[in-house]
Amino acid sequence: MVPIHHVPKPSQPDGKPALPSDALCYLIGSDGVFKQVHNDFYSVRLKVSGVSGLAEIGETASLHVPKLPISLFRQVEAFFIAVYQKHSSEAVVVLLCNPATQEWRVQVPPQEVKGLHVSYNLATLPDPPHGFERFGSIHSHASAKAFHSGTDDADETAFDGLHITIGNMDQPVRSYSARWMLAGKAFKVELADIIEGVALPKPDESWLAQVRKVEAEEDYWASRPFRGAGLFPPAAMGAVEREDFGSPEEYREYLEEMKNEVDERLLEMEAVLQEKGR
Ligand SMILES: [Zn+2]
Repeated sequence: MVPIHHVPKPSQPDGKPALPSDALCYLIGSDGVFKQVHNDFYSVRLKVSGVSGLAEIGETASLHVPKLPISLFRQVEAFFIAVYQKHSSEAVVVLLCNPATQEWRVQVPPQEVKGLHVSYNLATLPDPPHGFERFGSIHSHASAKAFHSGTDDADETAFDGLHITIGNMDQPVRSYSARWMLAGKAFKVELADIIEGVALPKPDESWLAQVRKVEAEEDYWASRPFRGAGLFPPAAMGAVEREDFGSPEEYREYLEEMKNEVDERLLEMEAVLQEKGR
C-alpha cells in the first residue's frame, strides 16, 4: 500500500510545511489530497481526487431528526407577517432540535431590522434548553421573493441544520425556499419534504354517495350531445397503429394529445350547438 501522510501546519505562521521525501506517497493537506512521485526523471506533487487502491466511498447524507410540525412553522410565518406589517422588514428565528425526543422548538433572538436586513448575534443568545441544540433558522424576505441570498450563504454555511426563507410577506400566497446545511454543504429540499403536514380527514360518506361510476364506455358517448356529429374517441379513429411509435411512452403521449384535442373540439362543438339552439 502506498503510504498516506497528513501534513500538519508549520509551527511558525510563515514557516514551510514539513513534506516527506517518499518516492511515492499520498499527502493530505488543508487544500486537498496530493500524489507525490520522485524518480530519476522527474518530481511531481499533483492534486488527485482519491487514492488508487482504496475502496470507493461516495457521498451520502441522512437525517436523524423529524420533520418540522406545521403548527410551529405557521406560528413562525404569522410572526414574520406581523413584523412585516409593523416594520416593513425581515425577521429571523433560530431553530432548536432535540434529536433524542424528536422535538423542534423556536428561539427568537433580539434582532435589529431594516427592510431587507436583519442582524442578530448568535453568541449572545442563552444556551438552548437541556437536550436541544441550535439546528437551523427561518428568516423572512419582507416583500421580496424567497431565495438563498449571498448573505444567507455566508450566514448559513457554518450553521448546520435546516434553513428556510419565506418571501412575499405582503402577499396572501408567500414563497418558500428551504435547504439543509450539513457539514457545510447545502442540500436543497421542497417544503413538503420538511414540514409535517396534517393528515387527511376521513372523506364524507354522503359526499361519496353523490358520485356514480358509468360502467360501459357507450353510455358515456351516448350521453354526449354531439353524437353522430363525426367525432369519435381516439381509439376509434383507426389510422394510427401502436407500431407507428418508437416507444409505449410516445404512444401514450400521442393518445393524451389526441384526447385533449378531442376534448377541445367537443367543447367548441357544444358551444356551436348551444348557439344554434338559441
Ligand atoms: Zn435571506
